Amino acid sequence: MLILFIRKQDMKVYNNILETIGNTPLVKLNKLTAACKGTILAKVETTNPGNSVKDRMAVKMIEDAEKSGLLKPGGTIIEGTSGNTGMGLALGAIIKGYKLICVLNDKQSKEKMDILRAVGAEVVVCPTAVDPSDPRSYYSVSKRLASEIPNSWYVNQYDNLSNRTAHYEQTGPEIWEQTEGKVTHFIVGVGTGGTISGVGKYLKEQNPNIKIWGIDTYGSVFKKYKETGIFDENEIYPYITEGIGEDILPANVDFDVIDHFEKVTDKDAAVYTRRLAREEGIFVGNSAGAAVSGLLQMKDQLKEDDVVVILFHDHGSRYVGKIFNDDWMRERGFLDEEFKTAADVIARHADQPLVTLYSEELISHAIVKMRKFNISQIPVTRDGQFVGSLNDNQVYQLLMDNPQLKDTPISKVMQAPFPEVKANTKLEDVAKLINEQVPAVIVEGENGQKQILTRQDIIASLA
Ligand code: PMP
Repeated sequence: MLILFIRKQDMKVYNNILETIGNTPLVKLNKLTAACKGTILAKVETTNPGNSVKDRMAVKMIEDAEKSGLLKPGGTIIEGTSGNTGMGLALGAIIKGYKLICVLNDKQSKEKMDILRAVGAEVVVCPTAVDPSDPRSYYSVSKRLASEIPNSWYVNQYDNLSNRTAHYEQTGPEIWEQTEGKVTHFIVGVGTGGTISGVGKYLKEQNPNIKIWGIDTYGSVFKKYKETGIFDENEIYPYITEGIGEDILPANVDFDVIDHFEKVTDKDAAVYTRRLAREEGIFVGNSAGAAVSGLLQMKDQLKEDDVVVILFHDHGSRYVGKIFNDDWMRERGFLDEEFKTAADVIARHADQPLVTLYSEELISHAIVKMRKFNISQIPVTRDGQFVGSLNDNQVYQLLMDNPQLKDTPISKVMQAPFPEVKANTKLEDVAKLINEQVPAVIVEGENGQKQILTRQDIIASLA
């Protein structure tokens, strides 16, 4: 009988989850960037155990703090984090036996907060729309907690240079080796600046011609600061894109290794995040969409033999309640929906019968009907045909001028019939027919049934 002995040291195992960080794949983009010359490769950081690139710098910051004595056994780690760094810190804290408090701003997705709680972090939420120096800001709250809690260490990923060192030591060399030194451009969203500065420094040391492009948001100070040296507070306003852009200048941003900042709108960042999932099967977060959109804005600068590496920070699952939610996108006007038709606009009252008046009814009847059905305009019929219309403005004017007119037949005072359109008429074409004098149109459904579409319906459909 053959007995197999498997020795423990031969097994291919990791000693703990932290050892699985890094060595993320480089994946070619095929469809979204088809208009770009060169080869476009995505460094997909979602395969890290915390599902983001931030695992790398979080563990590096913890280890450096241990070495320098800032973080002592049983200590509490405190950080103002948008979630991904918190996840990396949480994994480090679990394995190394620390407590973790994450201070987030209220712009961050609920998923991110829930995930942090799931891995044992305490989460404190602060308002976004306050100045960084405001005592309620997440910068201030994190610092205050760190001064109040004994044996605590405030990470400060913005100014803690172990952040960019992690990328200098790990992410940069991985990209260089995976592209066999052929990389010509590196593109990434910039928040603390750790990723771009660490990777950029390493790559430029290997080949100073490599271009390093940072993706910025509207509402952030980076681009103007890089181009003019001016920290312009007018550039600061609330925006939606998560993880990138800043209202401060973090020490981790090494402006010297960054060749250019490209700003991307919240809408484009969101739209391209969705397209990455649907067209490339790469389910990643908001800053990845921003990076792809920024690359496309810069595509004219690329040549056929360029090798572009674009880094995707985090996983799409953190954005299912936002970017990947149609209602959330629609509320912000981010969905370029198939155009609306007349039928779409009247859908909410399509099951209600059309209220009409006979041409020989009296104006007083019209007033009763308008009040009963709470409507402002009514088509007038004779022999089943639309022969005129009446609206409350007109009735008001008539009765103000001569109250006796209430006993006059409608046919004597009615206006022209409302225009008629088919149910599939585009909303923009319907809107062209509606004005002060023509407050409504009649819509003919596929079954021949007629409905009224008013100015109010159009306004409601735009809300
Ligand atoms: N994208 C996401 C989703 C992030 O969480 C962050 C970190 N704030 C970034 C991009 C920017 O990376 P870095 O902080 O290294 O500049």
